[in-house]
Amino acid sequence: MEKVKGKTHKEKEEKKEKRIEAKVALAVCKDKNCPFHGKLSTRGRKFRGYVTKKFPTRVVIEFERIIYYKKYERYAKARTKLHAHLPACLADKINVGDYVEIAECRPLSKIIHFVATRKLGEKEEK
Ligand SMILES: [Zn+2]
Repeated sequence: MEKVKGKTHKEKEEKKEKRIEAKVALAVCKDKNCPFHGKLSTRGRKFRGYVTKKFPTRVVIEFERIIYYKKYERYAKARTKLHAHLPACLADKINVGDYVEIAECRPLSKIIHFVATRKLGEKEEK
């Protein structure tokens, strides 16, 4: 293979510009219910869990928590499922199986009171 060396300064600049453009395009979305670019504000509780289902503007996350049964003096695991709005700027990044963080927001619909804020981990291959 022949090595291409000595790229001109202009070429480098063009590449840089393209990269910046791509970043801006990704960083902005027109979703009015986006906590970063829209008017949606978050408040209250935050949860972390794995995405079990993905819809165009919604994800379902599931996580385990430990509850205490007083009568039996034992702990048990319980699973909680929560529906969260998926902002347009995160729609490409978050997929089923990913570990994500969601934050409480105003009720967006009957079942959606949370919004996905960031992705914490990829799907674990087994
Ligand atoms: Zn956004």
